[in-house]
Amino acid sequence: MSEGAQNPIRRMPDGTVKQVGPLTGTRVWTVPGRANRPLAAPRDAARPLKRGESTQLCAFCSDRYLETTPEKARLVGPQFEQLRHVHASELTDTVAEFRRFGNLFEIVSAEYWRENHGFRQPSAVVEWAQEYLADPAGRAHIESLAAIRAAATGEQVSVEEAALDLLGGSHDVIVARRHVVDGATTDDQLASSGTLTPDEHAAYTAFTVQALADIQAAQPNAAYVAVFQNWLRPAGASFEHLHKQLVAVDEHGPQVDHELRLLSHDHDLYQRELADLAVSERLLVAATDGAVAFAGIGHRYPAFEVFSTSEANLPQEHSPEGIRAVSDLLHALHAATGPLVPTNEEWHYRPPGAPWPMPWRVVLKWRISNPAGFEGGTKIHVNTIDPWELRRRAVTALEQLRAEGAIADGIRIGDECTPEDARLRYAGDADAW
Ligand SMILES: [Zn+2]
Repeated sequence: MSEGAQNPIRRMPDGTVKQVGPLTGTRVWTVPGRANRPLAAPRDAARPLKRGESTQLCAFCSDRYLETTPEKARLVGPQFEQLRHVHASELTDTVAEFRRFGNLFEIVSAEYWRENHGFRQPSAVVEWAQEYLADPAGRAHIESLAAIRAAATGEQVSVEEAALDLLGGSHDVIVARRHVVDGATTDDQLASSGTLTPDEHAAYTAFTVQALADIQAAQPNAAYVAVFQNWLRPAGASFEHLHKQLVAVDEHGPQVDHELRLLSHDHDLYQRELADLAVSERLLVAATDGAVAFAGIGHRYPAFEVFSTSEANLPQEHSPEGIRAVSDLLHALHAATGPLVPTNEEWHYRPPGAPWPMPWRVVLKWRISNPAGFEGGTKIHVNTIDPWELRRRAVTALEQLRAEGAIADGIRIGDECTPEDARLRYAGDADAW
């Protein structure tokens, strides 16, 4: 066993912190003296917003509904009532708090599923496409999107084929209403996950869980649906307008495969290697009934890990309260992060066909550094904030946010958390698997 495997995290005499990812083997160093660099990504100077501009800053904005693909669902009103398949001519009849539609430029395309898996759209999608095209506004909408795609790909398809691909794809986007916060006067007052209210964030999370279940059900050839949120351009976002993405893929990818191999003889893997380690290293950041968050060890970027502590595995198997618990902690961590720090949010859960128990967990990464030649040459990643410092900063920010009433009630912060908060129940009776 290598030295690193015995010591997932240790501080050297000079203050350098060396980490090894318990599940990934990723090697990370935090070198003293680099932690005080600014977290926010450099931006152009803030620009005053003209009247009416805040709802048309990008193609995800609420005055530009027709620039995105036909809407699969939206949530409206204070109760987040769901409307499905809103007609093109009725898109502006209500204001969507959150809306879901296919990505115009998919990572894994409808053509991929058709050509590689022989996938044919079910009759419900065929009928929806016919209905959408029967409305002149719908036909014009599809024609304009097909022209944008044709210009990008150099391939012409009929409007009927374009409609099927746009309505029946397996790469969806979920977009929040606001680009900037209500009442913003400059374009840098961005509306991030953390600027939502806890209730709005809960609706966003539950809507995403439902989309995940929908895509899994609609794409029988998918082995997994990746769920993620890229926030700000340095984190890979094309628009600085809050959105999540869900992409069906026909394999799990190597990291899930690796974890499944470890799980086959150790169902308590996540408890032992991650949650217990977080407790013993005093890295618990926050907890609520149903979820726990800690500063993660061995990540290339400073990263929080939010674990559901429920017995459920897949997000859609969770009770509404279980989903809300994960949402509340995630929201609080986004709020503690602030809207000007680029982040990736990545969801992990048991692939539906996998034989071993796996918890639902969400990793939130601060994309505040750029890997460069040192990392490429050595495979040692230099991370400017070690997990203990990440926890210290988060706990300070969360206490302040709680005092302001900006995060959900019932969240235990820092030393208020107990080892019992970090008890994961995903494996149930481990011997039963
Ligand atoms: Zn926008």
